[in-house]
Formats: sequence, structure tokens, C-alpha cells
Amino acid sequence: MITLRYYPYQLNFKYPFAMAAGRRESTPVVYVELEYEGLIGYGEAALPGYLPETQTSVIDFLKKLDTKEFTGLPEIENALDYIFAVAPGNFAAKAAVDMALHDLSGKTLNQPCYTLWNLDKNNCPKTTFTIGIDSPEMILKKLDEAKDFNLLKVKLDGKNDKQIIETIRTATDKSICVDVNQGWKEKEMALDIIYWLKDKGTVFVEQPLNKNRLEDAQWLKEKSPLPLIADEAVQAFDDIEKIKDAYHGINIKLMKCGGLREAMKMIRHAKKLSIKVMLGCMSESSCGVSAAAQLAPLADWTDLDGPLLITNDPFNGITYRNGKIILNDLPGTGVIKIKAGTET
Ligand code: MG
Repeated sequence: MITLRYYPYQLNFKYPFAMAAGRRESTPVVYVELEYEGLIGYGEAALPGYLPETQTSVIDFLKKLDTKEFTGLPEIENALDYIFAVAPGNFAAKAAVDMALHDLSGKTLNQPCYTLWNLDKNNCPKTTFTIGIDSPEMILKKLDEAKDFNLLKVKLDGKNDKQIIETIRTATDKSICVDVNQGWKEKEMALDIIYWLKDKGTVFVEQPLNKNRLEDAQWLKEKSPLPLIADEAVQAFDDIEKIKDAYHGINIKLMKCGGLREAMKMIRHAKKLSIKVMLGCMSESSCGVSAAAQLAPLADWTDLDGPLLITNDPFNGITYRNGKIILNDLPGTGVIKIKAGTET
């Protein structure tokens, strides 16, 4: 019999984090634990305020679950089918349970998830370090913290874009990728700045226009000298077909799609369509990010720096070296709880 526990927690940012959707100092999360015969699987639902799910909605979803349905370990397919059938939506809540099930399954078999999937942990691509929108002084300070990373992810919003990039270029010639979070209003202006960004050493642009403007995105894709990556425009598996002509790649996040099983399906489908894969995260602790990182050998880029941007990570998991993710050899998703929560 599997026991389910969960508790809310607040992740605090080192610096207030700004992007086109607004500025915030912390992110609410809910941690999930599934215990079976002395082994505990961990999961996390991260809930940034601009998205519909909240700690209350996650806990309401978890209360609907009957763990008698979680049978058959180490097999978890039936349990995953069950959580997806309990209610529509609730992707962050489902992701938390999916992660905990994968962690528990791996622990039962005493193997890391990446080994169970036959992935080579030495094949992780470059990972980015995120620079939020800020004053030139703060951007320079954050660049200093990014010194071990050779790919910078720079948030832009159409207001001081050139000033932000010029500020970075006074300090470093590292490669940049840009995340606009739907912040550019006109496709012609977007194309102009993409050409300018290419000259400044940018490797790709994430979500340049509003997620619903697929015709404009397709126009931009046909002319853009840089790959365009869909983030807000792709939530889950079914969205890939809708956007495949409008973007060169997709940013897959466990919180958007509902966990590792769905993310794996999305990666396989994207590869079939020759769509580039970026593996991203919300502001999450090592719990969620280490789960996502189990898939890193399948990605073209990873954006999994969540734990580096917070001050009170209650978990240990992946580490970072020379701009790459280092997956540990621990079973499951490789997470260790280092700080007790108040379990419900
Ligand atoms: Mg993004």
C-alpha cells in the first residue's frame, strides 16, 4: 500500500525575478511524497502566479487521489493512467505525482530513471543560466554569478532589449539565447531585432510573439536567421501538431505537460518531426529540476537552472559543472530531501 503525503512551501528568489509577465520575489510550490515499504518518491508542483494552478488547486487534486489505484510497482503506467483520468488540467499537480511515481519506481529497482530509459548521463547538452530583466548594474552582478556557464538565457520584453544585450556584451562574449515571453508586438520589428541579435551572438529566440499568433509566427519562422522556440505556445503533447509549422523547436516543461511520461512522449514526437527540443523548468527546486534532468540526454538544450536562483532549496539533486548538468548515480530522480516540511 502506497501512502501519499503533501505540503505547501515557498521558494524564495535570490533576486526579484522579472520577465515580460511581471516581477516576483518567491514562488509557491507543493511537495508530494509517495511512500512504499520504507522507500519515498518525491515530486514537486511549482506554481508561478501567472499560471492558473495554485497550492489550493493542487491540494484539492491530491485529495481526490485514491492510492489503492497505485498498484503494480515498479510498473507505474496504470497509476499514471489513473492520475490523468481523475480530472482534466491540473498539469503541475499531475507532474508532481508523476515525478514521485518515477522516483519511487527507480528506487524500487535501485536504478536512476535515466538508466531505466537507456540514456547516457554523459550526453547532457549545455544548460543555460537565466538573466532576468534588470538594471545594467544588476545584470552585470548576475553575469558574475553565471561565470561557470557558457550559455546565457536573457529575458527581454521589447522595452530595453538592445540596452540589455549591449550591457552583457560589455562584460562577456558568451553565447546568448533570448526569451521574450511573448513580449514583442509586431512581427516586422521582431524580425529586425532577431537579425540584430544574431550579430550579437544569439543562438535562438524563445517565444517572440503572443502564443496565439500562429500565422505571424510562421511568417517569422520562414524569414528568421535564428531558430525560434515555442514555450507558452506549447503546453502538452497535442499542441505540437498545432505549432509545428510556426517554430523550429519546443520548450518542454514537466509543469506544463504533466510530468516525465508526457515529456518523453513529446520528445519522441518532436524528434520524428525534426523539431528541436529544449528542456526547461519553472522556478523550481532541485526536486522538480532533477526529475526533468533525467531526460536531459535527449534534449538539444536544457534550461534547468531553477535551483541556482533560489535561497531555500529543501532538496539536493543534480549539480552543475562547466555549464553542463551533472546527473548523480542515485536511484529514481536522484533527489535527497535535506529539509523537513510540514506534511499533511
Ligand atoms: Mg520561456
